[in-house]
Amino acid sequence: MKPFDYARAETVDEALAAGASGGRYIAGGTNLIDLMKLQVETPTRLIDISRLALDGVEETAAGGLRIGALVPNSDLAAHPLIRARYPMLSRALLAGASAQLRNKASTAGNLLQRTRCYYFYETAAACNKREPGSGCDAIGGFNRIHAVLGASASCIATHPSDMAVALRALDTVVVTALPDRGERRIALGDLYRLPGDTPEIETNLEPGELIIAIELPAPPPGRQLYRKVRDRASYAFALVSVAAAIAVEDGAVTSARLAFGGLAPMPWRSAEAETALVGKPAGTEAFEAAAEALLRDARGYGHNDFKIVLARRTLIACLRDLTA
Ligand code: SF4
Repeated sequence: MKPFDYARAETVDEALAAGASGGRYIAGGTNLIDLMKLQVETPTRLIDISRLALDGVEETAAGGLRIGALVPNSDLAAHPLIRARYPMLSRALLAGASAQLRNKASTAGNLLQRTRCYYFYETAAACNKREPGSGCDAIGGFNRIHAVLGASASCIATHPSDMAVALRALDTVVVTALPDRGERRIALGDLYRLPGDTPEIETNLEPGELIIAIELPAPPPGRQLYRKVRDRASYAFALVSVAAAIAVEDGAVTSARLAFGGLAPMPWRSAEAETALVGKPAGTEAFEAAAEALLRDARGYGHNDFKIVLARRTLIACLRDLTA
């Protein structure tokens, strides 16, 4: 690990003032410290925000919840209002990492964790995300865990978060603070960028911008589910995951929210798949049409070709279970 300066912020204003002059925010550090040990990331200054008063969960006037950026993943998964109103989120959180990591990992940190592409962590490998312009060893290499949607000729990495997939299905808004500019609200889907030619730029956050909370709207109608398919039963990233909320009345789908993990560089929402379901009888024909709409532009890179078939089967199975 390379030497770095360390400063602890006691208030959001202190953190923003420190962030304005450069440095990386750190809360639980469950990903950043690993990256620093491997010298994939070499910040010269860390701003510890772990003691900021951003650990509350409050009901909003709109019937949703405002969740502080520093609420630990384990606390959020166990929160009675999350379990009662947003069970897909509780399930997604519990599907991620290990109990020890969930105790330490924060809500905002989970959103901003970086890909687990093997080549990104191996500094001897070519990786455009780690070293822009160096190439991508995953394309044409071992790419079993890589993206089949939203990738580019520069990068085919996936986003690793389970929590973010459920939040995407729930239409979550990210609340940030900027030095001298107050708060900003960003739809979760607009927080992330697709890799394009600049895979090293992963979000639309500005320098020094600090996530202070997320806001969940009122729960969607119908039943919810989060299903994760992975190589082993725990402590593994998703090959495919599905966050779904489906409402059915008189045998027809009246509302559908579908988001996916393990398939793309960001938590992937499929409006096309949702459109294929709404207004249709809840049955095999509509479920297959939804899978077709989701995967119309999917492309495998060899080792990960199986994900296209797996995503189709997983989505259809989830829809069957939710509408049974
Ligand atoms: Fe790097 Fe992305 Fe290629 Fe992985 S897929 S090696 S993160 S550029």
